[in-house]
Amino acid sequence: MAEQNNNRPKAPASQTDAKGPRQPARRRKPASKQSEVRPAATAQQQAPKAQKAAAPAEAADRGGQRRRAGKKQGLAALTAAQKAAQAVASVASTAMTQAAKVAAETADPRQENPALRPRKAKGQKGKNDGPRLRVIPLGGLNEIGKNMTVLEYGDDIVVVDCGMTFPDDELLGVDLVIPDITYLIKNAHKVRGIVITHAHEDHIGAIPYVLRELNVPIYCTALTGGLIRLRLEEHRNIKKPKIQVRKAGDKFKLGVFEVEMIHVNHSVPDACAIAIKTPLGVVIMTGDFKIDTTPIDGKMIDLERFGQLGRQGVLMLMCDSTNAERPGIAMSERRVGESMAQHFKTDKRIIVATFASNVHRIQQIINIAHQAGRKVAVSGRSMDNILRVGTELGYITTPPNTMVELNDIKKYPAGKLVVITTGSQGETMSALYRMAFSGHRQVDVGPGDKILIAASPIPGNEKSVYSMINELFRRGAEVVYEKLADIHVSGHACQEEIKMILSLTKPKYYMPVHGEFRHLMVNAGLGRVCGVAPENIFIGDLGKVLEIDENSAEFTEAVPAGRVLVDGYGVGEVGNAVLKERRHLGEDGVIAAVAAVDVQNGTILSGPEIFTRGFIFVREAEELMEEMREVTRQALESCFDRKMTSRHNIREYVAARLSDHLRRKTKRDPVIVPVIIET
Ligand SMILES: [Zn+2]
Ligand SMILES: [Zn+2]
Repeated sequence: MAEQNNNRPKAPASQTDAKGPRQPARRRKPASKQSEVRPAATAQQQAPKAQKAAAPAEAADRGGQRRRAGKKQGLAALTAAQKAAQAVASVASTAMTQAAKVAAETADPRQENPALRPRKAKGQKGKNDGPRLRVIPLGGLNEIGKNMTVLEYGDDIVVVDCGMTFPDDELLGVDLVIPDITYLIKNAHKVRGIVITHAHEDHIGAIPYVLRELNVPIYCTALTGGLIRLRLEEHRNIKKPKIQVRKAGDKFKLGVFEVEMIHVNHSVPDACAIAIKTPLGVVIMTGDFKIDTTPIDGKMIDLERFGQLGRQGVLMLMCDSTNAERPGIAMSERRVGESMAQHFKTDKRIIVATFASNVHRIQQIINIAHQAGRKVAVSGRSMDNILRVGTELGYITTPPNTMVELNDIKKYPAGKLVVITTGSQGETMSALYRMAFSGHRQVDVGPGDKILIAASPIPGNEKSVYSMINELFRRGAEVVYEKLADIHVSGHACQEEIKMILSLTKPKYYMPVHGEFRHLMVNAGLGRVCGVAPENIFIGDLGKVLEIDENSAEFTEAVPAGRVLVDGYGVGEVGNAVLKERRHLGEDGVIAAVAAVDVQNGTILSGPEIFTRGFIFVREAEELMEEMREVTRQALESCFDRKMTSRHNIREYVAARLSDHLRRKTKRDPVIVPVIIET
């Protein structure tokens, strides 16, 4: 999940870590197109970053004292950052000139399109005629969401993660987005299984859709398996899924690959990194991770295993980039509990909103409530589900006489209650949202409530989150959210943690994943700092195949990849044409012209009638409505004059005349639907 942590960005952020790569001229590999692009992109991207980090508002984003102190520092930093930005800009322009030079020297039109680039080997054969290891990201690159990575060697494919992403505003009416798995369907006979790192939506959300196409086993830890089963319950028409539960430390064979699960810390328990032993060496995918030295369940990330693998030799590391821009280390989840305990010291009823999947946080809330002598009720379907599954599987333990039914909360005084709820992202159907807008049956929010929102808005959700917070304040409630207190920490590794994993594993090749382009670029910088040779760092793209043989690695072809839109029960039915139409409807509205005609005798029997939606307000535009009726009548008559009998042609003609008229009169272009009824 995309989250933010509480580390204050320092300005200008880690110049050393993120500084531009070495000169690209030294690179000889065909993959050098990457290197040609890289310096310019890095430098350009660093300049705004330096400025942004230095903005006073950014520098002092938490707490009053910090805010005041930050302002001063912020101004000083601003000047420093401006200088830095200028320096970076000048480096950028030099780099760009040099990059352009290199590009010109090595220009080969075939290199423009990776698919056309000369390939050392046809098929998947390398110099030694053996198969090569193919690494194919199908999701999670240049985006945060829908993670999916494919490893292929000879006749075996293993897939890691199978996530979804929520649609952006552009995707009107689309429910969710999943990766394009055309390549996997084409090679279905090779797919040995899907290995899941952890139970977040961006890693498991596409499973119900992918299983319809690929009947393969899923390998994951117990909690992840429980949550996948919950998801699958919502979908019919899926054959009984083969979920194989494994635990951290387990190793198992999938074709030629040996897969190992390695325990990591994250904002959902039972998360794993995956180490895959291939004939060419070990590939480690960190999944989402952080290093928590004081985890709630006492199980720290298995750094030792990362170190062992590093000593034995790691071929490639693919590492979470979500927080690669953030210096330092992510705060421990325990910190949330400490901060929360302070907030519980009140006579008010406490309502806490957090991610349902954050089992450890829920456990902490229950424990603190118990210590404070408060009863706990939960609200929201996913919160109910997680409590049930988490308790069944032993990930949540509830002290006796602590949990109460939501229907019974009126029996307890406000100061003796905690309600744990969903809705930390301002989702319109969620429990907290309904509380805010008085649509919740059991919980009526008012001045007797203190509401803690223990999550930060995922980018894109800010507007709905803050409008919900405004509404809660309006009802007189006290609202505490991330900007005001340390009641949320990120589950993703910051720079020092990423560097720790890099230094422990010492990979030959490095591919930053799980991030937008800027995250990937900054993470690539961390790879260089930790000693990975610049030519061995690969910024991938969806569908772009990285082929590795005994001596080298290079991008070769591209396989189909991208996004598949899910709309209701339809998968992939909504394409660009439909989206364009929806936008068109949204922007210009729709006009229906309805008439009953006798084509044989060339007469209009009734109508034409004009109906509009989202185009004009009818009462104020009677004149225009009359014109449209007249245009339609004339159009129909000229069809009759020309002896047109095809209903299709008549409709087209009427639509064209109406469209011409409206464009002339209103400069607008609504969707026109002529309805010709023949009698
Ligand atoms: Zn994730
Ligand atoms: Zn995650």
